[in-house]
Amino acid sequence: MGFWRELGEGLAQAVYPENLYCMACNDIGEFSDSWGLCEKCLTNLFSEDNLRGTLMKDAKGRSYSRVLACTVYGGLSKEIIGKYKNKSQPWLGKNLGKLMAERFAEEERSYRFGLRGRDFDGTIISPADLVTFVPMHPAKKRIRGYDQAQLMAEQVARSLRIPCVECLERTRKTAAMKNMSEEQRNQNVSGAFAWREPAAVSGRLPLSGKHMILVDDIVTTGSTAEACASVLRRAGAKDVTLLAFAAAAHQSAQ
Ligand SMILES: [Zn+2]
Repeated sequence: MGFWRELGEGLAQAVYPENLYCMACNDIGEFSDSWGLCEKCLTNLFSEDNLRGTLMKDAKGRSYSRVLACTVYGGLSKEIIGKYKNKSQPWLGKNLGKLMAERFAEEERSYRFGLRGRDFDGTIISPADLVTFVPMHPAKKRIRGYDQAQLMAEQVARSLRIPCVECLERTRKTAAMKNMSEEQRNQNVSGAFAWREPAAVSGRLPLSGKHMILVDDIVTTGSTAEACASVLRRAGAKDVTLLAFAAAAHQSAQ
């Protein structure tokens, strides 16, 4: 399995060499950084409007205390996520993970140094201790060959220099939620995740007192994240930050 997966990734990378093409528009670009995006797409994805749409997502009554996303879901970000999930381009997870780590670090800095406006509640984001992710169902992972949130989370952890732990498991398959209302979504994912003792840190967990980053690719209503975050909180996590690449704009409180 590992061999075939590596072979597949190798072939795919030979066709789309990592960071030679812009991951959004496929142009051979002048790259200002290692994020795999050309200047044009960087500007587009992280325009004022797109960033504003990701701010102030409601975490009231949730087990996570904040939601951070790099951009609004739609257009370019939708295309990138589609490529990443459905076209066997797992290395995109690395680029996306770097952007997400940057988003977390930026937020933490701006809280610490008081750069945020008065519309924020002033909560200090403590540097996180651990990264984890919203897991796929194992059967689905076998088909895709990789878990998209896991690859992103591993890169977030590398960039922030903290461990990534696999401590959640999806205990049952859940229906696709594209056309569901928030209530239907809550029901669909309720109890679908369970605690799973992470192999690497077994014995010296638990999470007690820890600030965890919960990684997912897209956040829509937050139902899935809530189902996961509640498991983490029950396991003792003090604080959970939900970190996604893209956030559905219609959920924005702005
Ligand atoms: Zn581009």
